[in-house]
Amino acid sequence: MDLGIKGRKAIVCASSKGLGRGCAIKLAEAGVDLTLNARSEGPLEETAGYIRDTFGVNVQIVAADITTEEGRNAVLAACPEPDILVNNAGGPPPGVWSDWGQDEWQAAIQSNMLTPILLTTAVLPGMIARKWGRIVNITSGSVKSPIPQLGLSNAARAGLTGFIAGTARQVAKDGVVINNLLPGQHDTDRINALMGNRAKAENISMDEARNRAQASLPTGKFGDPINFGATCAFMCSEYASFMIGQNLLLDGGAFNSTMG
Ligand code: NAP
Repeated sequence: MDLGIKGRKAIVCASSKGLGRGCAIKLAEAGVDLTLNARSEGPLEETAGYIRDTFGVNVQIVAADITTEEGRNAVLAACPEPDILVNNAGGPPPGVWSDWGQDEWQAAIQSNMLTPILLTTAVLPGMIARKWGRIVNITSGSVKSPIPQLGLSNAARAGLTGFIAGTARQVAKDGVVINNLLPGQHDTDRINALMGNRAKAENISMDEARNRAQASLPTGKFGDPINFGATCAFMCSEYASFMIGQNLLLDGGAFNSTMG
């Protein structure tokens, strides 16, 4: 399917690995030129090289911490007029309510709420002026159904979701489409880090922790970051123009509900 976005320009944040990488690959397959970002240059260059060689699109990289003002400015300087923005960053550490004080809260809010809000507000004027834009925020299934040990994530991402809900409706007339994509458990480094914690807590092997987590899903297995990326690419496509302010859950059916 031709997504109608060949030649468009996208910023994909936190995209050397995992879900961000999946989104970058599927946008490149649709013919989109990319600005990729992550903190470590090595994996970023590796992903950029793979995408250039495979899809022949233009790919530039910006090695920077997207949760800092300096990092965001560097990414925006490299791609000042993006048509597409995929907001993403690392997730906060697990714990319990009593672990988290002012510093931990500020870091989580900075990473998973303020950073995507500030990038969105930075690119919106240009998208509105050009009458076309697509923004996808990678949030989490925890927005719909809390993951108790990820309280920092549950809360910060809910704040972002509230901002997007109103803003997406304010800019829809200008051709700007903003939505959130909510991952459940996908097979990435992040899930392996969480499985490592589970293995320790339950005194089981890493394989056993992964097996137990996968067995609890209706699909019986974790999600594939490339399939996640394909959904993201559709949400950035010409055909997503009537999808406004939605929260699309990709969790293998883990959220048990008849509707919504
Ligand atoms: P991942 O496999 O660990 O990949 C994270 C990517 O983000 C890497 O490219 C990493 O590169 C980059 N990154 C991390 N912090 C960054 C920062 N401050 N600035 C720039 N780049 C940064 O993680 P993932 O599984 O793709 O998860 C992506 C997001 O989805 C996270 O917020 C995670 O909490 C959320 N999520 C994931 C799952 C899941 O099952 N995988 C489920 C729900 C929610 P560098 O380390 O080099 O910066």
